Amino acid sequence: MGEKKNKAKAEINEIKKTVESKTQKSVVVPEYLTASSRFKFRCYPGIGCFTKCCSGIRIILSPYDIFRLKNRLGKSCLEFLNDYTIPMTIEGSSLQTVGLKMKDDEIRSCPFVTAEGCTVYTDRPLTCRYYPIGMGMMKKDTGKTGEDFFIKVKEDHCLGHNEETVWTIKEWRQDQESDLYDEMNNDWMAIVLKAKTLGRVEFSQRSLELFYIVSTNLDLFRDMAFSPRFIAAYQLDPETLKTLAEDELELLKFSLKWLRFVTFDEGDFKVDQEARKKAKEKLISQAEEERKRQREEAIDALDGQD
Ligand code: SF4
Ligand code: SF4
Repeated sequence: MGEKKNKAKAEINEIKKTVESKTQKSVVVPEYLTASSRFKFRCYPGIGCFTKCCSGIRIILSPYDIFRLKNRLGKSCLEFLNDYTIPMTIEGSSLQTVGLKMKDDEIRSCPFVTAEGCTVYTDRPLTCRYYPIGMGMMKKDTGKTGEDFFIKVKEDHCLGHNEETVWTIKEWRQDQESDLYDEMNNDWMAIVLKAKTLGRVEFSQRSLELFYIVSTNLDLFRDMAFSPRFIAAYQLDPETLKTLAEDELELLKFSLKWLRFVTFDEGDFKVDQEARKKAKEKLISQAEEERKRQREEAIDALDGQD
């Protein structure tokens, strides 16, 4: 029981630190809550602080965030990554992925904010949906995740807390579709959470490349998943292949399940070990190539600014 409490405390402190580093300017008062806890909040166009929370922030993008946003904008994964993201490291781990690239203006505005509000509102990232309720999750000794808890963040500039609308945490999360996002990202979150729980786990460079590519570029994963080597390694039957070819969301879920399997050996994939090794090698070399190309492009872009 004591150990559980300590874990919860450590999680709360970590969320607090994350929020403080995001906001810097305001007083943050985190509160420990459960799904049935009640709080008052309302955010709407016309409120005095409207869009004040949409600048100077650090927004890590989950795979489902990227999926929703790139489709909303009608972009390929690569186009979206090039136009809207920068590399970021997931706090408390050595895992690298991407975050939203803020504009180069004085207040570092989000690329999607206008005076009228968020231009991608129905597809906004999970971080924007969580606000002002952050979520923590304790790990059970079995290795399974469970016992969610929540943190309310109260910042000086956010006037939504002075409104009279009452929510339970559960109602708020449903309203914001946070549950849906968490479900879609479930396998990815399990990797992140495990990496954080284990502290700065020493992932091999190759595992880091794989994590980065599968977390950010579904198009590249698609190319790999339909290669004869991969199909043989993971014994994908025609019906599964048809589903993955026709339904991009199923492909995303499959990619994250696969990533969890190759990262921590968790999951129930049927595998031909020899073919699996070859398929993994192939994806790693593709991932390395892609990262090299992205780095060169970033250097070219910087040179162009001189
Ligand atoms: S994505 Fe939308 S809600 Fe999120 S910070 Fe940008 S403008 Fe605000
Ligand atoms: S009420 Fe809070 S969340 Fe809504 S616009 Fe204002 S600062 Fe942002």
